[in-house]
This record gives sequence, structure tokens and C-alpha cells, in this order.
Amino acid sequence: MSGIIDPVERVVVVGAGIAGLAAASRLQRAGVSCVVLEARDRIGGRLHTIDLAGTPVDLGGSWIHHPIGNPLSAFCDERGIARDPGDATMSLSAYDRLERRRLDHGEVEKYTQVESDAFWNVVDALSDRLGPDATGLDAIEAFVADRGLTGAIARRVRQELRAEVEADAADRADNDSLRWMSFGEEFDGPVFGDLPRNGYRSVIDVLATDADVRLNTEVVSVDVAADGIRAIGADGSVEAGSHAIVTVPLGVLKRGSIRFDPPLPTLTQRAVDALGFGRYEKIALCFESAFWRDDGLSHLVVFPPDEDEPAMWVFDLDGFGAGPVLCAHLFHTLTPYALARPPAQAVDWLMGVLADVFGRAVPDPVASVVTAWADDPFTRGAYSHCPPGAEPSMLDLLGEPMHRRLLLAGEHTQSARYGYADGAYVSGLRAAEICMRVAIGTESTTLRQKSRMKETRADPSSRRRPGD
Ligand SMILES: Cc1cc2nc3c(=O)[nH]c(=O)nc-3n(C[C@H](O)[C@H](O)[C@H](O)COP(=O)(O)OP(=O)(O)OC[C@H]3O[C@@H](n4cnc5c(N)ncnc54)[C@H](O)[C@@H]3O)c2cc1C
Repeated sequence: MSGIIDPVERVVVVGAGIAGLAAASRLQRAGVSCVVLEARDRIGGRLHTIDLAGTPVDLGGSWIHHPIGNPLSAFCDERGIARDPGDATMSLSAYDRLERRRLDHGEVEKYTQVESDAFWNVVDALSDRLGPDATGLDAIEAFVADRGLTGAIARRVRQELRAEVEADAADRADNDSLRWMSFGEEFDGPVFGDLPRNGYRSVIDVLATDADVRLNTEVVSVDVAADGIRAIGADGSVEAGSHAIVTVPLGVLKRGSIRFDPPLPTLTQRAVDALGFGRYEKIALCFESAFWRDDGLSHLVVFPPDEDEPAMWVFDLDGFGAGPVLCAHLFHTLTPYALARPPAQAVDWLMGVLADVFGRAVPDPVASVVTAWADDPFTRGAYSHCPPGAEPSMLDLLGEPMHRRLLLAGEHTQSARYGYADGAYVSGLRAAEICMRVAIGTESTTLRQKSRMKETRADPSSRRRPGD
């Protein structure tokens, strides 16, 4: 890999998600000319807050996970963006749809804490025992067998652990590499962490201040020549610059929706192909009032009747002080309930689940929304992970400069915090800094982040949980 050639006169950033906006804002502060080309008619990408009948709802990322020491917490504090506690574990209830009963407090704790912590504590040991090709599902099965769990308890443990593994990977547990399942850098504080008040748009809007963003500009080709780069739009428009930072999601790169000329280096393309980019969708229902409070309920874990399905987490946004919204998080295996049908049917399905939980028909929602990140041509999934055959160094490889004028950024271009919004943010800053530090021959070494990467295995207090 080569470094970046100077001079950096004008940077064309493709994508106005948090990575692209962080890169643009860093360049602008340094006085480097910069334009951001965004395919959609809005900024924010996978950080997208809507008003659902007056309640802010984040359709993509919502938490700042592990907020202590997290660079997004620092950003919020510096810019006066309030953060509210977003830990759901204190007020969690659970319902088993097969047994048609609410679980008592001890049972909720058993599945979501005791067995869960025990599992994540032995993930390393299981990885050593089961070998490099083992998957998250292999680990769950071995754990259940080792603990001698049977019957309904085994089923619920499997369902909860599948939810946690699928939330971590945004993919099926049998398509997640056990070896890398808990790889990455963790900060301190609760995994659910904080919620930017009024949603992630509070962060995005501040980050975008003064950025020159061109909306409705889908880039279809990025050409790198000896004297500069050209980003060509679907409408034939051309934006020229000295360098490009392309922040489109891994799912878009996998589809080949952007043609690179010259093509991405072979190893980079192999990494794009090998890394995983699965699914995670949400169904949010806004009600006239938070009727579930009358039943003494708040956040819910719902164990499905089908034992091969993961548990579904339903978050009570009223419990977070936002408004009377229940938001169901559907990890990969459950996503057909949102994706493979019209939104109204997805809402009906969730209403049926809630009727089971409450033992009666629940009031009609006043507004609803169903996401389809996997079908969205500018996302094509949720976030990146390592399936069997991939490894974290591939994510770092995606962050290396190419053809002396081209950089990728985004959550998928670094291994320390892949999948996370803060990882995307830092990747954008890093790409901007590489452009600003240009000097042929010095960048290749400064780029190597491997020394920064650390393997923090299976610390139950810091691992990911549903909602990651
Ligand atoms: C359901 C869900 C829940 C999540 N929950 C959390 C959470 O709670 N906490 C957390 O930290 N992370 C969470 N994440 C992950 C987080 O949202 C992402 O890691 C982060 O937002 C990625 O930012 P990015 O800038 O890399 O990519 P994006 O936000 O996807 O930005 C890329 C931009 O590129 C644009 N684009 C794509 N193609 C083109 C093109 N051809 N031309 C021009 N522009 C283009 C897109 O429209 C988009 O605006 C969640 C994600 C999902 C989907």
C-alpha cells in the first residue's frame, strides 16, 4: 500500500454519514477545501432520527455504547449536546410466547444476566476448544451442553444468546466467527450507555455545520488519475478534487455500486468480499399514551415460539424520557418479519406479539415506522462483522490509502470499533488527518493501527448486547 501524494488541494468526500461529516469537518477546520456528495436527500446515513408523532426515534444507531472514554461522549460534551442514560437492564421484563406467560424477575435475571455473563466469560475458552472455524452458534450449543441445560431453560438460553450474538454481528450466529466474536476495543461504562437527547440527529446536525454537502448526488464512479480524482454522479455530473474519501457502507462496496478506476487493489477487494454485512431492522409504534406502564412494564424481552429464533428486544422509549413509543429490534434472523412484507403487515405482526404479551388487544398506534436498511440501495445491510474466513485485519486494510489519492472511511474501515457509530466517526477523522499529514513514504507506517488494536476478550461488563 502506498501513502498519500500531496498537495491536498480539494477533497471530495462521498457520503454524508457520521464518517463523511467527521472527515469534512476536520478538513474544514484545517482550512482544506472539501465537498461532500450524498446520494440521499438527507444527511446522517445510518444515524437517522425521525419524529414519530412527536417522539424522536432513531431508525439506525441510537446508543453511544460504553460512553466513558468514548470519543462521541467527548464530542457531545464539547458541543453542548445532552446525553441521557439509556440502560434498559434495570427495568426489563420478559414474556415467553411458547409457554404464554410472563417470566418472573429471577428468570429475567437468569437469562439476560447470569447465563449471559457466564457465556461471555467462556467465549475465549470455547474458541480455543472449538477451533478457528467455529461459529457463534457452535459456541452457544457447546455452552448449553456444558451447563447441562435442558428443556425450556435451554431453549430460552439459546434464544437470548442468539439475540446477543446477532446484535453484535448483525448477522446469523452461524455466520459469525467465534474467534473474532469479542474482538475490538471497549471503553468503560454500561454497554447500553447513553442516548444523545433528541436522537443522533443532535450529533449529526452539529457535525454538519458549515459543511458543503450536495444532497441527491449519487456517485457511480470514482476515477483516480495522476493529477487528481473525479467523482462521477449518476446524473453525469463530475466533481473533481486532488483526493477522495469514500465513506459508503460496506454493503454498497460489496454490491459494486461504485466503479473504481483503477479498481480497488486485489487484497482490498478480497477484504470487501470476505467481510460480513448482515441485517438488523426496527419496528417502532407510537401510541396515544404509554399504556404498558399501567401493567408495570417497560423494556421487554420476548422469547419467540420458534426455538430457532433469537429473542426480540422491545425498547420503551417512554422509559428513556422520549415519548410513548415501543421500538422492536429485530436481529438478522427476525428481519423477514419487517422486510419480506408491506410495512402495514409488519406492524400487524408486532401488534399480535404485543397482544400476546399483554394478554389482550393493545390500542392502535397513532403512528408507526418499519425500517428496511437491508433493501436500501445506499446501505444494503446494517453493519460489518467477521464471518468465518474473515479477520479484523481486513477491516484495517480497508482504511489504508489506495492509488495515492483515495481513502475509504466508515465503520467498516477499522477493527477497533467496527460496527459502532463512534468507530465510524473516528475513521472519518483519521482519513482527514491522513490527507492533512501528506508526505510520501511516511504515511504507510503512521497508518498501521495494529499496535492500537487490542483484543479485549469476553469481559462481561463491557461486551456488546442487543441494541449494539
Ligand atoms: C438498526 C441499526 C442499529 C444500530 N445501532 C447502533 C447503536 O445503537 N450504536 C452504535 O454505535 N451504532 C449503531 N449502529 C451502527 C451505526 O449506525 C453505524 O456504524 C454508523 O452510523 C455508520 O456510519 P458511516 O458514516 O460509516 O456510514 P453511513 O451512516 O451508512 O454513511 C454512509 C453515507 O453514504 C451515502 N451513500 C451510499 N452510497 C452512496 C453513493 N453511491 N453516492 C453518494 N453517497 C452514498 C449513504 O446515503 C450514507 O449517507 C446501528 C446500525 C443499524 C443499521
